[in-house]
Amino acid sequence: MPVPTDETPALRLTIELVPATCWGANVRDVLPRARWDALRREVYAASGHRCAICGAGGKLHCHEVWDYDDAAHVQRLRGFRALCVECHHVKHIGHARLLASQGKLDYERIVAHFLRVNGCDRATFARHRDEAFARFAERSRYEWRTEF
Ligand SMILES: [Zn+2]
Repeated sequence: MPVPTDETPALRLTIELVPATCWGANVRDVLPRARWDALRREVYAASGHRCAICGAGGKLHCHEVWDYDDAAHVQRLRGFRALCVECHHVKHIGHARLLASQGKLDYERIVAHFLRVNGCDRATFARHRDEAFARFAERSRYEWRTEF
């Protein structure tokens, strides 16, 4: 079941950058490996072993969806979504850019996936990306409390 979102409704696939001050405060790093594996297998099964956004089969990642309370500086876990590798790279496009700079990923392939899934043009992508990075920069100025 897809998680309801407050993201830009016109875009099916959006960028969700985790504030730098929250890096490491995630379920995957907190749970013992076996429990994380069991949890993500449940998420994949519930999604019919397809990407919850674009419907692709194949290799899936378990994406953690967070809400950010910008007044109280609390990040709350909202749930999990099964995502294909490309949709997941879009979610964390800052990390994708880093991998691309190390020659480990084709950044243009990730941008092309965003354009295809959203049926939008490059200017829409650039605007959405700039908004996401501006929000990231603002949120990364603060320490956040994490609620699982
Ligand atoms: Zn996908």
